[in-house]
Amino acid sequence: MARQTRAERLWQILYPGVPAEGSAPTAPVIRRTIRPRRLPRPGRLKGKDLKALRLACFERDRGLCITFGQPTLFGAPHEWPNSFHMAHRRGKRMWGDHLGQVDTQCGACHRESHSPKVVSAK
Ligand SMILES: [Zn+2]
Repeated sequence: MARQTRAERLWQILYPGVPAEGSAPTAPVIRRTIRPRRLPRPGRLKGKDLKALRLACFERDRGLCITFGQPTLFGAPHEWPNSFHMAHRRGKRMWGDHLGQVDTQCGACHRESHSPKVVSAK
């Protein structure tokens, strides 16, 4: 049997049982996996660089939440109210990850600062 081309193999996957005609349209190329990003988004940090920034933020603020000054726990589960969170001062998409852009917050205050504001109906 003749060696199949990539297009012929794809055709059989896409249209099982349908013989590929000589005039068959080129089968579409299907990408099965989403390739993970190799590089962070512009201005953003990943992996050990982001860890280093989190640690630098924690050390600079001595682990104290900037809102009310409560001590935070580095490495505590993020859902804990007293866990260390690194909060961005301005939109991280535009302003990125660097020490002048981040503050220590406890989990409770950080969640509060991201929760939709309730406006009184009165
Ligand atoms: Zn707080």
